[in-house]
Amino acid sequence: MVNIILFGPPGSGKGTQAAKLVEKYDLLHISTGDLFRANIGGETELGMKAKAFMDKGELVPDSLTIEMLKAKVDENPNVKGYIFDGFPRTIPQAEALDAMLSDKGQEVNYLLALDVVEGEIIKRLLKRGEVSGRSDDQNEDVIKNRIGVYIKNTRAVAEYYNQLDKTNFIDGMGTIEEIFDRLCKVLDSE
Ligand code: AMP
Repeated sequence: MVNIILFGPPGSGKGTQAAKLVEKYDLLHISTGDLFRANIGGETELGMKAKAFMDKGELVPDSLTIEMLKAKVDENPNVKGYIFDGFPRTIPQAEALDAMLSDKGQEVNYLLALDVVEGEIIKRLLKRGEVSGRSDDQNEDVIKNRIGVYIKNTRAVAEYYNQLDKTNFIDGMGTIEEIFDRLCKVLDSE
């Protein structure tokens, strides 16, 4: 069992790389952003609550996020491991994840942090907004708010796992294949 947190600011390529890692290592990809968007599409109560925060580029409250994540993990117990994408985004989320995995006799094995410069992020997100239909990718103020939230609340999660010797910083600039090779090198190094 190997559990990976794919980490980085919005637009750092987490979703793209997660899809490739899932294929190579046969893991279950859990993206909290995707789960929220599915709830919005299904017009669930959770979706309506989450939408108000997502539209502004704010974080959805920890309690709602953690509950949704736990349900997804519990629905899929027989897997080789999980790739968490966009989760945890706060220290309480990280602590909740560790407690949940520890109850199952598991742990986070790697946090892979994609490093991308801010100018590149804004460019990538605006480009993605042209095709993704995501309103939070189309408005530069919302994008800037998401980056601000990342710096204020989320970046500390990489440091939290660094203290536990689990964080690996990966250069997130380059082609999709170059970045994928860097990630695989870390995962194949043991
Ligand atoms: P993403 O698809 O990962 O870029 O997430 C899109 C939006 O969903 C974020 O800007 C947040 O509003 C919300 N979201 C996704 N994951 C989380 C999380 N772990 N904690 C709080 N909010 C989240």
